[in-house]
Amino acid sequence: MEKVIIVGSGCAGLTAAIYAARANLNPLVLEGRQPGGQLSTTTLVENYPGFPDGIDGPQLIMNMHKQAEKFGTRFSYAEVTDFEPRNSHVRIKADDEWLETQALIIASGASARYLGLENEEKLIGHGLTSCSTCDGAFYKNVPVCVIGGGDSAAEESLFLTRFASKVYLIHRRDKMRASRIMQDRVFANKKIEPIWNTVVTKYISDAKGEMRAVRLRNVKTNEERELEVACVFVAIGHDPNTQPFTGKLQADADGYLIAKNLAESKHPGVFIAGDVADRVYKQAVTAAGTGCAAAMDAEKYLSDLESHT
Ligand code: NAP
Repeated sequence: MEKVIIVGSGCAGLTAAIYAARANLNPLVLEGRQPGGQLSTTTLVENYPGFPDGIDGPQLIMNMHKQAEKFGTRFSYAEVTDFEPRNSHVRIKADDEWLETQALIIASGASARYLGLENEEKLIGHGLTSCSTCDGAFYKNVPVCVIGGGDSAAEESLFLTRFASKVYLIHRRDKMRASRIMQDRVFANKKIEPIWNTVVTKYISDAKGEMRAVRLRNVKTNEERELEVACVFVAIGHDPNTQPFTGKLQADADGYLIAKNLAESKHPGVFIAGDVADRVYKQAVTAAGTGCAAAMDAEKYLSDLESHT
């Protein structure tokens, strides 16, 4: 029987691990197949307190990993596929093995959303991606496009100007929702051309199955046209990673888990942290904050359990 298992190794999971490990709870982190969460696929993080010159997302996450390890956290790449909350403990299936734990912290984060167009799955990795830091450098001196109007779309567009000949920013409205500072940077960059009130209706690939162009529709005029791009970067938000917990924990209509008092779930011993329960803030620092709260709540829960036995 484990004392604490943490699902997810992004900012929330690793912060929970640092706190749980420092409380001598010897936590086990199930990292899944894509360790590091969203910070590991981002560029410079300028708003995480304590880094006046910013810090690269992957570096920040590596530092947190090291810090958690230093206090005794154990890590496994196993992927969680099922979950059974019991009265006295929790069972969790990681790969093919059932594990038992007294407390569970769910910090499984959120995954990039795609448009749901034809051939989407086939094109991922062939000119369709949600990660400019992973794939941007493959598209040197060619036109690319970014879809979305939030901070992610702004950040991806700016990053891509380092490589691409042109970055089209395709947004379904005539205003971005990105923060003012990011919008100002986007509009000041000559390589970025916003295309407003427009949606992508089709991906067009070449004979080798690589992205060649997209079909666009202006939502005001219904006018359609084709735009040549070698890669499409989708930045239209994220969906919470809740598949193993669906129907077993309280969630809202979009699947975000519902926590009471910051990190507690409706099941004793099950705590929730980070973007898996955050449809509003979604910042690295808020994920770290709820990770800390979840670990502290788990610690209190375990010491209450102990004092009653
Ligand atoms: P977001 O703020 O939810 O923005 C998603 C964008 O995609 C919106 O502009 C939305 O359009 C558009 N969109 C959604 N569904 C779409 C669809 N089916 N087709 C076309 N467009 C669609 O998501 P985000 O940009 O990933 O940001 C998430 C959070 O992380 C935010 O709180 C953001 O501030 C934060 N973040 C911060 C930074 C930073 O500080 N540098 C960087 C990245 C992310 P509408 O505007 O019309 O809804």
